[in-house]
Amino acid sequence: MAQDTVWCQNPRCPEKKNSNQIRGTKGKKYHQSSKASGYGSGNFCTLRCYDQWSDQYLDRAIDTLAIRIVEPVKLPMESAWRKDCKWQYNDGDSYIVRYLENKLMGIKIPVTEQQYDSIGYGNDECLALANQIGYKQSA
Ligand SMILES: [Zn+2]
Repeated sequence: MAQDTVWCQNPRCPEKKNSNQIRGTKGKKYHQSSKASGYGSGNFCTLRCYDQWSDQYLDRAIDTLAIRIVEPVKLPMESAWRKDCKWQYNDGDSYIVRYLENKLMGIKIPVTEQQYDSIGYGNDECLALANQIGYKQSA
């Protein structure tokens, strides 16, 4: 969250004209910005305000920061490790299958619940466990 951001950063936030945005005294009332909450890294009050701001400023933000991606980002084989799990159904039974996977290498390694829970989702942790278990590359 941006430091010291209290108010929703969408300049059009008061245009929602919500009852809880009404301030001022009789004859001098106005709608004001809402407080920011968890949207857009804590800069916006709602997803709608985040979207309105993005529609207006996101292109400029990307170009001003000079971070526009002009070629596709590529993730090489050695960085393509992940962990995942899925439900399997067999004759009315259901159970969770947990595995390490590298689709680029054509590798899928079953792991125990304990092994699965012992690591995060990062590539390095998944690769380290795959190396520890031992695996064969097929693609
Ligand atoms: Zn807002």
